[in-house]
Amino acid sequence: MSYLPWHRSEFERLLAGRAALGHALLIHGPRGIGKLAFATALAQALLCEGSGRTGGACEVCPACGWFGAGNHPDVRRVEPESLTAKLSGEEQSAEKGSSDQIAVDQIRALADFVGTSSHRGGAKLILIHPAEALNLNAANALLKSLEEPPAGVIFLLVAHRPSYLPATVRSRCRQVCLARPDADAAAAWLKAQGIADPALALAHTGNAPLLARELAQADYWQRRNDLFTSLADPGFDALVTAERVRDYGVEEVVGWLQKWSFDILLQHCVDAIRYNPDFSRPVASLASGIDMLALLRYHRELIRLQRVVEHPLNARLLFERLLIDYQRAVAPTAPDTRKAA
Ligand SMILES: [Zn+2]
Repeated sequence: MSYLPWHRSEFERLLAGRAALGHALLIHGPRGIGKLAFATALAQALLCEGSGRTGGACEVCPACGWFGAGNHPDVRRVEPESLTAKLSGEEQSAEKGSSDQIAVDQIRALADFVGTSSHRGGAKLILIHPAEALNLNAANALLKSLEEPPAGVIFLLVAHRPSYLPATVRSRCRQVCLARPDADAAAAWLKAQGIADPALALAHTGNAPLLARELAQADYWQRRNDLFTSLADPGFDALVTAERVRDYGVEEVVGWLQKWSFDILLQHCVDAIRYNPDFSRPVASLASGIDMLALLRYHRELIRLQRVVEHPLNARLLFERLLIDYQRAVAPTAPDTRKAA
């Protein structure tokens, strides 16, 4: 496991100071830039028993072998059940209500690991990802360990929304803030990964290359293009569109509407576009006729929704409401095109 090339200097800096690393690191930064890869590579390097230990793990010693196979005895990884299920390909259970949170029992279950001595005589690593998934009880249970750090244990917390963690937990961790790559490095990396249009993928994800690569693997772009084509259509119909996207993910649709409305606002105010350069023409044409305050309110509502709505009872109703509100904001003077029932 390796860190991403744009995090090399930060990685080497931490390893060079490994003797004073601290007992808990909060590795944070934007989503999709390689924080988990960084934390995993750091854990492996700290456990590596090879000789050349200055530039990271050797990849050939027994410890690296176990680490690579996911069974090093001095490592524990803690993540929400839903993520574990998803990574192991159990899509069914991931959808059927397995928890998106890290529960207190998962933290309590670390007691034996923390309380016994290291199998290999080195450090013991606990990687918590994403740390903002810790529910309140779990965070409080973890806090006890952070306040009275068990000997030889290093906690690596990975978070893209560190503000969601209790301040008490944050303050007990050494902060490691990872930056986005510069655009050229990110585009070169995506190109090497076989991504067809790195520039668009980076614009759309706010320069988050891992997220861009992840999205390219599913039919994400097809779904996104379907929705945007409807939104760009002069004959846009909120209810027809809601029906068309009824099976799409809520987080996904809310995120797209947020990026779309952001681009219209940006175009309206400063004649620029950020997320969807491939739809610049329809965005420009929509931007000329909007009710700006209404669209701004709409955009703010989408940002609020992104924080709270993950599993609404009825996604279709939510989509209908959002698309009707969108229609009102972008075409305040257009006649209502809905057919009478
Ligand atoms: Zn090694």
